[in-house]
Amino acid sequence: MSDFRLDDISVPRVLVVDDEKDIRDGCYRILTRMGATVETAENGSEGLKKVALFHPGIVLLDLKMPGMDGMETLRCIQEIDLNVLIIIITGYATVETAIEAMKLGAYDFIPKPFEPDQLRIVVGRALEKKRLEAETAILETERRKTLVDLGTEKSRIRTVIESLPNGVMVTNANGRVVLLNPAFLAFMDLPADRQEGDPVDAYVSDPGFAKLAEDVSRGTYSNADEIPSYEFSPSVGRFILVRARPVPGEEGECLGAVLVLMDVTSLKVLDRLKSEFVAKVSHELRSPLATIHEQIAVVMRDLVANSPSAPLEDTRLLSRAKEKTQGLIELIGDLLDVSRIESGSMAHQPQPVPLYKLLRGIVDFMAERAKAKNQALSLDLPAGRLPEIVADPMALESIFGNLITNALNYTPDGGRIEVTASVSDGLVTVKVKDNGYGIDPRHHQKIFEKFYRVKTEHTRYITGTGLGLSIVKGLLDALGGTISLESEPGKGSTFTVSLPISEKN
Ligand code: ADP
Repeated sequence: MSDFRLDDISVPRVLVVDDEKDIRDGCYRILTRMGATVETAENGSEGLKKVALFHPGIVLLDLKMPGMDGMETLRCIQEIDLNVLIIIITGYATVETAIEAMKLGAYDFIPKPFEPDQLRIVVGRALEKKRLEAETAILETERRKTLVDLGTEKSRIRTVIESLPNGVMVTNANGRVVLLNPAFLAFMDLPADRQEGDPVDAYVSDPGFAKLAEDVSRGTYSNADEIPSYEFSPSVGRFILVRARPVPGEEGECLGAVLVLMDVTSLKVLDRLKSEFVAKVSHELRSPLATIHEQIAVVMRDLVANSPSAPLEDTRLLSRAKEKTQGLIELIGDLLDVSRIESGSMAHQPQPVPLYKLLRGIVDFMAERAKAKNQALSLDLPAGRLPEIVADPMALESIFGNLITNALNYTPDGGRIEVTASVSDGLVTVKVKDNGYGIDPRHHQKIFEKFYRVKTEHTRYITGTGLGLSIVKGLLDALGGTISLESEPGKGSTFTVSLPISEKN
């Protein structure tokens, strides 16, 4: 106890109740020196009053007093405040009574007469107990506060998730649903009180959605950026876009998935209106432009035939006007194709198409152009019959026409363009290979986007719309085919198209 400091508890208050003045005064002196605030009382009833007024932490109580005796006083003090530590002061003859008092809840006792050190030790021990009690109370308060904070934080997060306009579904690693928010239930037309706990397909019948949720929940994707977004239609005229992310545990393991759903119906409507508008405007522009183009050609022909000495400048101007109108006609053709693909009306008249005939026709048609640039354009097909592809022939023509036109355009004069085809594993693969300018890998993804063009010192002056490859990609997506590209600047490009062969082949 020697290292115990009274300042460890804020203001230790001690009450001494004893009928002997010497004891009261002695205790007062010793305890005051210990740093305590001390009050004294000479009998039980005065002691009780002081307990109520002074709120002592410790009471030193004489058992043998005239009037109200110590035992009675002890009981009454406990009725006023159970937390007071009572130390019994007793003569040798009444140790038994002291033990009795301890049984009643007194904390300690000190036999009379006592040395100052004895008093210090006993009171020091009681003060230490008080201090520990105070510390425990503080810790308990803090623990309760932390729990309350945690509870508040949890309910705050819950409130945020519930208020989100986007649908949220959380699954565990077994693919079972552990959280749904009201927006999700509304998107899926589920009752507002639908409970979590079932597998994903109990809430969303779309198989693609269920597969995405399952794959992400089981940690199939090591890189979250590779997770594709998914679009589906839960009811007629409604479109939902889904993004999924895994929930990583502390060790990096996958604990489940978070799926966020956005209603993109209005965007779809806007997109459709935009496509319809572009289609309408393009359609309206096409005929007058074709007429202007034709008329320029006629004027040029007449000019050359009737006035061979016409100024060179006039012919040059007309020739440029013809080129520009041709560019516009091509742009309009591409825009019409794009809107047809977006409205789903392209590639929708499937019929068996003999691939050999189709490729031969396109290559023959392009032969003139290749010749004008002194390019070697070859078609190399495997021995035996190429299988038929069940697809819209216009769509196939557009795919290979665009790729071969690009190869001719982006290959300098005197270059080589090879078209080859092969068949394996239920797929027919067509490669369009050139030894032209090539494409830097950082553009490989982007060139399939609408209007994306790569401008290098070689390609800057080649006219084009930037729509061709987006049309190719859109058509292949609709036909269940794929396209890939191998290319490097200066080393040429190879576009590889794969298409599923129809079953009756
Ligand atoms: P366009 O040819 O009308 O610009 P595309 O969508 O067909 O539009 O092509 C997009 C871009 O991809 C082109 O601008 C060109 O830079 C590049 N590209 C396409 N094919 C080739 C090719 N065979 N060789 C080099 N670059 C190509």
